[in-house]
Amino acid sequence: METEKTDGIVCSVVVPLYNEEEVIGESYKRLTAVMEGEGISYELIMVNDGSRDRTEELARAICTADKRVKLINFARNFGHQTAITAGMDAAGGLCVVVIDADLQDPPEVIPEMLAKWREGIDVVYGKRISREGETFFKKFTAKTFYRTLNKMTDVDIPVDTGDFRLIDRKVKDALLQVREHNRYVRGIVSWLGFKTAPVEFERKKRFAGTTKYPLKKMLKLAKDALLSFSFKPLKLAMGTGIFLSAASVIYLIVALILGLCGVLGSTGMLFVVLAIALFFQGLTLIYMGVQNEYMARMYDETRDRPLYLIRDRVNFDEHNDASPPLRH
Ligand code: UDP
Ligand code: MG
Repeated sequence: METEKTDGIVCSVVVPLYNEEEVIGESYKRLTAVMEGEGISYELIMVNDGSRDRTEELARAICTADKRVKLINFARNFGHQTAITAGMDAAGGLCVVVIDADLQDPPEVIPEMLAKWREGIDVVYGKRISREGETFFKKFTAKTFYRTLNKMTDVDIPVDTGDFRLIDRKVKDALLQVREHNRYVRGIVSWLGFKTAPVEFERKKRFAGTTKYPLKKMLKLAKDALLSFSFKPLKLAMGTGIFLSAASVIYLIVALILGLCGVLGSTGMLFVVLAIALFFQGLTLIYMGVQNEYMARMYDETRDRPLYLIRDRVNFDEHNDASPPLRH
């Protein structure tokens, strides 16, 4: 899919926003200072992911004062991964930087990313060497998750890496061809390949407000990552099935012998049989559940609904746009 013209823009910065009224002003200030310091032409694409607070109002005010800032308003909350996809879709720069709004990813790292890009690297990803001000639970689950995911998948997805990264325009164009639903964008970028290098940074505390990734959204992201990059959960069923069938035959023989020798009374036998029945029933349901997860994703793909719906866009040159694409 061909993308819009670059309009001489060197760098597009994409910022997803969901209920970020407390950080949007500061975020804009810090990003603008960094990008102006670089002395290159840039655009700041804010994607308002169906916020229910004053985010849109504040974003519109920024757009009125600064034409380098563009705003995409989603029709509703489609989620972080979809928001950054929409931002990248609309980006006109020679490279695209994706950064969270809450300043946990310091904008001051962007010049380092740009320097690596100028040296010829296509994907410069931010690698977190430390995480400040996050709960033990969040750090522990994140660390375990990234490492487990790496073991489960064939794609080499860098550990301790979020979506804070710079990608070259050609990577962005490649990414545009991958329109899968329930996206795990950093996984898709790794799957694409290209020349990749890290830039290390310390993940800061959120500037203000609270996380917009409650446990439910975290689990959904983890599930999307695992299921879109690994068939191991499906294959695991076969291995466990074979193992348990073999084990149950041995178990049955032992139980029969013990029963015949009168070691287990008839009531004891009943409990044993019941336990076995429940155990296998549980296992069957778990594996059906795993299959259903993949099936639901297949259904999602075949329905082929657009990834997101845009309510309106601000500061985009709609005349030059050849009208925004109908399908996203
Ligand atoms: N975000 C979004 N849609 C959502 C949830 C989050 O666009 O449904 C944005 C949010 O505004 C922020 C980024 O995604 O810019 C990361 O979210 P957050 O900082 O809350 O996640 P955490 O850093 O706590 O994992
Ligand atoms: Mg954050």
